[in-house]
Amino acid sequence: MDSFDAFLNGPEYVLNNRRSGRCPRLRVCMGYFVLFLEFFVRNLLGKFLVFAVYSLVSFVVTVAFTILLPYESLRLSQVVIWILVVFAIYLVINIFYHYRKASTTPSGRPLRSNEPPLCNRCRNHKSIHTHHCSMCGECVVNMDHHCVWINRCVGAGNHRHFLQFVGFLTIGCFLFCFAGYSTFYNNYWRPVEKTMFCHIGLDSFWIPSLCSMGDDFISATVFFTYCLCAIIFFLVGGLFVWNLLLISNGQTYVGLLKGDYSHLKRSTTEFLTPWRRPDFREVWIDFLGLRKGRTFWRHIALPSAHRPTVPLRWDDGKFDAEPLLDV
Ligand SMILES: [Zn+2]
Ligand SMILES: [Zn+2]
Repeated sequence: MDSFDAFLNGPEYVLNNRRSGRCPRLRVCMGYFVLFLEFFVRNLLGKFLVFAVYSLVSFVVTVAFTILLPYESLRLSQVVIWILVVFAIYLVINIFYHYRKASTTPSGRPLRSNEPPLCNRCRNHKSIHTHHCSMCGECVVNMDHHCVWINRCVGAGNHRHFLQFVGFLTIGCFLFCFAGYSTFYNNYWRPVEKTMFCHIGLDSFWIPSLCSMGDDFISATVFFTYCLCAIIFFLVGGLFVWNLLLISNGQTYVGLLKGDYSHLKRSTTEFLTPWRRPDFREVWIDFLGLRKGRTFWRHIALPSAHRPTVPLRWDDGKFDAEPLLDV
């Protein structure tokens, strides 16, 4: 059985589809397993991971401002420290903003239409770039994947916020590892008492209570945070580059897996060098929603809630009427 199809289409698909296996009992068992998986991923794992993302980002930010920046202020000039502080605040605002938007904005409900082909679960029109997500229980236009870290699908409705969250998080983790190397080196890698956090004469008001927990606590905290940022930088950075490539090529991850884009299949070199294509700029202007006078500096570099240019159905029943992408 194609477990990917089962994941997308849910337990009814497994129960009713003969390709799921000839033994009816096995089909029932698999149906209940998929049902359990849906419940587990959406209601338990997903909610826990959203809480974990907020907690871990808050923890890293706290460590950056209470340990890393004070420690580095002895090595770096005041100007550099202030630039780091301002840039870090800018990144934190963008990371939280885009994570909140990515995890709460509807992923991309299609407009109501009875035109065939219909989704066999929603009974609504299902265009070629639309896929039904069994976890979310709805069709998603330009579905990229169901992301457990935001507990919903990444689709036409929230893909820009997801990409910006992933991008800002990658830059933030790189900055933490780059600027905080001497903090990591002197407090964990080669700790010498006179160069450790609690022994260099820092006078901020939180230092006494932080140091009352001992050098080992500071070492462990620095080690955990630094490793976490390094791991996130490589994993999320890889996801960011992968997303950039897919979007540049007008593809989505689910679409690629399901072979929807066979007419767009190109050579590996073309896939890896999308900027050579003549429509590269237009693809990105559409993806980022930079129409109707919107600009990169105001609507992408700064937090912006502007809706995508694809016509979608929102909670308020409204949609942007002007279709700009071929969906
Ligand atoms: Zn559907
Ligand atoms: Zn989903």
